[in-house]
Amino acid sequence: MVVSVEIADALKELKKDPLFTSGQAMPDENNPLLMMYFQQMVEQRCFAAGGGKFIAPAQRMADFSAGKQSAALPACSYQPGLQSTQLSEVLPSFIYQSLAKGFQLFGKKMKGYFTNEAVVVATESRTSSPVRIPRNSETLCHPQLKNLYPCGEGAGYAGGIVSAAMDGERIAKQLALVLA
Ligand SMILES: Cc1cc2nc3c(=O)[nH]c(=O)nc-3n(C[C@H](O)[C@H](O)[C@H](O)COP(=O)(O)OP(=O)(O)OC[C@H]3O[C@@H](n4cnc5c(N)ncnc54)[C@H](O)[C@@H]3O)c2cc1C
Repeated sequence: MVVSVEIADALKELKKDPLFTSGQAMPDENNPLLMMYFQQMVEQRCFAAGGGKFIAPAQRMADFSAGKQSAALPACSYQPGLQSTQLSEVLPSFIYQSLAKGFQLFGKKMKGYFTNEAVVVATESRTSSPVRIPRNSETLCHPQLKNLYPCGEGAGYAGGIVSAAMDGERIAKQLALVLA
């Protein structure tokens, strides 16, 4: 299930974050790193809610949608472990509300989906690089830095496992030509 985050949503939430209410300048709507600040804020809130040792805050699915703290959690493969937490107090409200309603609606379409045996773990968040290291479209080399071949997600040329692999393949083929 995906909750899309618009610039206005991110700005509204960041304005309330202690980092920015305590004086640091807020990134504006044109800041290319705006969504990364938003992601950082969500991750920091979850880290703190789990007690600061990578224990993830979590809630059973039906409890999550009902806004009720889970008395206990089932076993989970996440190694540092889970801590039962009222996630409505951790996640930004628009994300919590969308997921809470979304789980219920999807449960009506798929039998067995909406169940208290499922656990909502906060949070696996990710975003692709919002900036791109330049490279020549023919040589794939950086226009100023000789022998630098920006590649993959961090350089801004991929958004997931497959596109990162394909970009790596392109660079490897180019390097094979250059080094032959
Ligand atoms: C939580 C999470 C969930 C994800 N889920 C999915 C998913 O379901 N589907 C999907 O398609 N994609 C998913 N992705 C994205 C996917 O993992 C990445 O897009 C992909 O791995 C990027 O590949 P990459 O080779 O460009 O970068 P990376 O896999 O990040 O590789 C970069 C490598 O460079 C190394 N490195 C960094 N700095 C240095 C240095 N100075 N010296 C030497 N080595 C260095 C790092 O250790 C790392 O091994 C997810 C990502 C995250 C974080």
